[in-house]
Amino acid sequence: MVNLPIHLFQFSLKVSADLGEQCSEAVDGGLIEYSPAIFGHKDQMNMHGENAVSARSDVVEFFHGPNYIVIMQRLQAFKYVLRPDGQQQRQMRRFAGSCRFVFNKALALQQERREQGEKKLGYAELCKQLTQWKRDGSTAWLADTPSQALQQTLKDLERAYTNFFAKRADFPRFKKKGHGDSFRYPQGCKLDQGNRRLFLPKLGWVRYRNSRDVLGVIKNVTVSQSNGKWYAAIQTEREVAVPIHHGGAIGIDMGIARFATLSDGGFYAPLNSFKRHETALRKAQQAMSRKTTFSRNWKKAKARVQRIHSRIGHARRDYLHKCSTTISQNHAMVCIEDLQVRNMSRSAAGTAAAPGRNVRAKSGLNKAILDQGWFEFRRQLDYKLAWQGGHLIAVPPKNTSRTCPCCGHISADNRQSQALFVCVACGFEENADVVGAINVLRAGHARLACEVSDALMSPAAGPHRSELSASV
Ligand SMILES: [Zn+2]
Repeated sequence: MVNLPIHLFQFSLKVSADLGEQCSEAVDGGLIEYSPAIFGHKDQMNMHGENAVSARSDVVEFFHGPNYIVIMQRLQAFKYVLRPDGQQQRQMRRFAGSCRFVFNKALALQQERREQGEKKLGYAELCKQLTQWKRDGSTAWLADTPSQALQQTLKDLERAYTNFFAKRADFPRFKKKGHGDSFRYPQGCKLDQGNRRLFLPKLGWVRYRNSRDVLGVIKNVTVSQSNGKWYAAIQTEREVAVPIHHGGAIGIDMGIARFATLSDGGFYAPLNSFKRHETALRKAQQAMSRKTTFSRNWKKAKARVQRIHSRIGHARRDYLHKCSTTISQNHAMVCIEDLQVRNMSRSAAGTAAAPGRNVRAKSGLNKAILDQGWFEFRRQLDYKLAWQGGHLIAVPPKNTSRTCPCCGHISADNRQSQALFVCVACGFEENADVVGAINVLRAGHARLACEVSDALMSPAAGPHRSELSASV
């Protein structure tokens, strides 16, 4: 291991953006880590990490090692549009309905037990209940649905509870018809790509639109319905050699006016897919409200509303994928603010006892956040970076918009307007989003340094990937 101190002049935009590229030129195939120069002591390092943003010179450490290759098990889903015949469609609707029924019945049972102060049933006990329901005369029709699909639903419920207890999600909710209709086969599916057909137990061979090749061994298949179309998501597992990423480091500031601003000054414009379609959606919804509920015309109008919703979803996903792919290909280390999207997007109205403040403004912001898909963007960045051998680092958003990247002065006055940052101490002027991104990158460096010092890594340990906080 070679420790090579590089004293950077006043930390500025240029240096932070170029730092990584210089390093990857210097060590071909080595692992690059950064740590601050001034702090050698661990406690100080931690303190440094908590304060997150500093404006001092850095040391760059090179871990020289053999060009080792990391083999990773990659789980990947491939999604296709199914082309079922009439009989298969009816059966799929029935399967999805049975799964929903089982989920809701099991959830009701758990709630009932909770009210009576009894212990929650485990997965195995729920499966026993399921067998009884199938024998029961009134719900004997459950036997027509593949047992494994029903059991998977119970597993989903278990996971929903686990996520709730781990504070990752709200309490499990009852499923509604038409909302996320789906069922999953954990085994027994066969894929015949040459003839563009997929074998699903109790359904037989189902034709599908073969849009791309499936790679790896099939782990499970999820069949779902959305907007009148049926989809099959085939999850596979395969061994992949993780390449060594030669990109540099970058910080990202997420915003409303600009979807994502990079610390090198680049940015991605927002895709307000919802806004663009809002008028069309409003008209369609108005048309629907004028129809007699459940009439033929009402159903047609409803289908139109759903179509617009799905178009919005597709446009958004497409844009997010394009952004996250470009960023993950060009940068090995991406630092992002650890925004609690779940809290931010929560209703601003509050409760009757504690009504929220600035409800109108906040609900506008919340809508914009949801529309931008920040959470999905971060999820995509995380796995795409991992595939490319890079890593995502989430940093606490504290003071990232108020700290001067030039002199380190922290003040709310630094941010003169939404767009402009002018330091009251040294007069440094820059776009406010770019400043945020630079500070996020600095905080990321600091955080990485702490992690490296905590667990002195040997080169054989492989690239270190920051754990995302469990709060989101
Ligand atoms: Zn300053």
